[in-house]
Amino acid sequence: MERLDEGEVEELLGDDRLRIGVKLEDYLLVYLGVRPCSQITIPAELPSGREMGRIIDEMIYPTLLRIRRGDRGAIRDVKRAMRRAYREVVENSEEYKAHIRWAERLGLRWRIDEVRPTVRELYLYRERSVEKKLRRLMNRREKLRREALKRPRGLGIYLAYPEELEADWVMEMGGLLGYPQCCVERYARERAMGLEVEERAYRQLEEGEANAMAYFVSYFFPCTPLCPEAVSMGRRCLRLLEELHPRLGELYRGRMEENLELVRRLPSLVEAHRAEAERRLGEWRNRTRQL
Ligand SMILES: [Zn+2]
Repeated sequence: MERLDEGEVEELLGDDRLRIGVKLEDYLLVYLGVRPCSQITIPAELPSGREMGRIIDEMIYPTLLRIRRGDRGAIRDVKRAMRRAYREVVENSEEYKAHIRWAERLGLRWRIDEVRPTVRELYLYRERSVEKKLRRLMNRREKLRREALKRPRGLGIYLAYPEELEADWVMEMGGLLGYPQCCVERYARERAMGLEVEERAYRQLEEGEANAMAYFVSYFFPCTPLCPEAVSMGRRCLRLLEELHPRLGELYRGRMEENLELVRRLPSLVEAHRAEAERRLGEWRNRTRQL
């Protein structure tokens, strides 16, 4: 693979159609070979992700009303409307296209998986061996999700993510995302036991010291805030990014601090998320009542 020169790195940094965290953690760390694979949620992680979500809601709203009126056949139509809205709003957007183009320019392979009719996961990787593993993991996830739908009771929030309860699945996925084994093992064990990993993660920060380098990518929970394996990953990522361009080092240091802060603020984020979900639900209700 050709090495990016400083000018190209600056071009990537100046492209505001990608978020800075996505550029550093998902594009460059995979490009540099520190992570075998990365995962980006679309449209949530696009710069205009929220706005896109709002527009899609507006577009599917008329079809959604038919469900509320008890039209059983409407469910399939809603899914169809959602997929159409996703194509129009997300896939046609400059931001989305820029993500694909940068993957090509960096010589990365990618695959896209539908999580819900209006949500996709974009996986970036370099090696064909990763592609094979991903395909197997995604097929397994499909199967688990189909099975979970048949027995929806008692699973709670895991109804949508039953694979999170499968230690083997979690371990292999974590390995592909470049997470240290000790951290993935703890995560998998706790999830399988039905424990809240997020809660453990922010309590650890309340109780003791932390090294921001252990938080080398967002949405990752080190087994402890000082985990030597995770810290050494952070240090390695930092060194490689700095070698590519001095500015990347500075940006990445800030990023790791933010990742750590995000875990610290998880309780208030969960609260805000709940408030936002309730607000949106209330809005829907008001509008349906008007008709
Ligand atoms: Zn660890």
